[in-house]
Parts: sequence; structure tokens; C-alpha cells
Amino acid sequence: MSADEAVQSTNDDASECKRSAVRLGYWQDDYVQILVRGSDRKPPEINRGYYARTEGVNLFIKKFLKLAGEKCQIISFGAGFDTLYWRLKHAQCKFDNFTEIDFPSVTARKCYAIKRSKPLLEGLGPDCEVRLSSTELHGGNYHLVGADLRNVNEVASKMRESEVNFQLPTLFLAECVLVYIESISVANLLRWIISRFPTAMFLNYEQVNMCDRFGEIMLENLRARGCPLSGVDACLSLETQMKRFLSTDWDGAKAWTMVDIYNAIDPAERQRIEKIELLDEQELLVQLFQHYCICVGWKGQLFSSITLSEY
Ligand code: SAM
Repeated sequence: MSADEAVQSTNDDASECKRSAVRLGYWQDDYVQILVRGSDRKPPEINRGYYARTEGVNLFIKKFLKLAGEKCQIISFGAGFDTLYWRLKHAQCKFDNFTEIDFPSVTARKCYAIKRSKPLLEGLGPDCEVRLSSTELHGGNYHLVGADLRNVNEVASKMRESEVNFQLPTLFLAECVLVYIESISVANLLRWIISRFPTAMFLNYEQVNMCDRFGEIMLENLRARGCPLSGVDACLSLETQMKRFLSTDWDGAKAWTMVDIYNAIDPAERQRIEKIELLDEQELLVQLFQHYCICVGWKGQLFSSITLSEY
């Protein structure tokens, strides 16, 4: 398996873990089981970790939508089989454009699944015209395109094909993606965004604190699968996560470990999910939370007040 294929296969893990947690009732997602078949049950700490990840990402997406208003767009880098578009539509959230970018081999599988699924097709909008190739799909305000994020020209041209409006407030989302990309390529991408979008927010969920023993074990596991961890130098601390944005001319950046994010979730909701499964290894979950983070970078006044609480 090539390094790129190993990276692409991480999408299968992420979507299987999300499906496992959804099946147990951690959160509602009527679409994940359409994209990912099977019924493997993951260990409780994995289910809870994915719950915190999804809740944390949702929390900042809600903040973005509230600050940006309806004329905004979301661009998901390395989107894999994520179902965010359909979940937001189901929740009646309004946005002008939602574009997903991943390697063509991943988008091809997603295209195939969407075109065979009535709920996913209907989610694109009533009677909307769907334009499809083997790797790309455009329907309503949803666009799924294949590109290598290391190639900024390709990314730019796919955005134009997806009718991205460079003037609108835009959220860029990357969930466990940048760690696989060389730092220089991530920096190029972040600089290009800054040069083209006057108002932008970047939401990055990723490994952090990779210098300690627990972090090293996590990295060893990924390397053993053949994944190049070319962007890992940004995952060493919350500071290096923020520096990635500040050194590429973003106006500001803030970062929190998943310990903070989990504690910010509504206590009633935490109580609900903590009853779903017994957790023998509380310590392991805390260690996992200490080794993942959410980092938000922004350009423009609109997002400069972004915080974890008060939403
Ligand atoms: N974001 C999704 C989620 O959280 O469910 C998928 C995460 S998966 C761990 C990482 C994804 O990033 C894979 O789908 C992979 O193909 C994509 N990816 C990594 N490097 C990429 C690159 N250079 N160009 C395009 N996609 C990339």
C-alpha cells in the first residue's frame, strides 16, 4: 500500500468509529450508516472520544453560522465520508455553498454511495439537478470534488468549479487531515486562503502534545500502518498548532485540548452520554482527550471574538 493509500484508509477508520458511536446513541446521524456498512462496536473510550470530537466541531460550526449569517460557505478539507452537510440541512441550517475536497479515490466512493441513496440525494434539495462524474458530484449547494490538498492550484480550480464565492465569510474545516500533509504544503494552503478570502475561519481538529510517551505511542500506531506523519511538527503543543496560523498571516488563533472542549459541553448532555456505556478506563479517556485539540484560526474582525464558552 502506498503512503497516500494508507492516508486514504484512515477515512474508513474514522467513519467506522463514528458509525459505532451513532449506533449506540451518542448522537443522531441518520446518514452515516448509508455511507459506512457493518456493525463493529468500538471500545467505550473510542466512542466517547468520537462523541467529544463531533460535539466540539459542531459547537464551533454553530458559532461560525451565528456570526457569519446565512450568506456564508463551508469548505471541508479531507472530508472523507463525513455527513456534516446532511446533518446541517436536516437541522435547517442555512449557507450558500458547502464544498468537500478529498483525494479522487475517496470522493469516487462517496459519489457512488450518494447516487445510490434516496435520503442522501433528497438531502441535496427537492428536484435539484445533480451533475456527476465518477469522482465528483455537484447538486444544489453541495459540491464534492477530488483534489490533492498539497496542490494549491488544483484546490483553487476545484473551488471555482464548485462555485465558491471568495468574498463570502467562509469556514474551512479539517478533521484529522493536516497531520498527514507536509508542513510546507499546509503553510502554502493557509497562505493561499489568506490571499483569496477576506473573511475566513479555520477549524482544525487534530492530535496534540505528541512529545510525551502516550503521544509517541499514538504516532507509532499510525506509522505502523504506513501513514506518513509529515505535518506532525504542528501537533507538538497548543502553541505550535496556533503558530501554524499566526506564521501564515492569519489575524489570530486559539486552541484548546479536548479536556477543555469536553468540559464545555452541556452538563446534562454529558450526563446522558456517560450513561450509555460503562467506562473502566477513565484514565485512558483523559489521556486521549489530552492528546487531541481544536484549533481555530481567523481572518477578519467577524471571528476575532470567538471563544469556547458563551455561544
Ligand atoms: N475528515 C473526515 C472525518 O473526520 O471523518 C476524514 C478524516 S480521515 C482521518 C483523513 C482524510 O483526509 C482522508 O479521507 C484522506 O483521504 C484525507 N486527506 C489526507 N491528505 C489529503 C490530501 N493531501 N489531499 C486530499 N485529501 C487528503
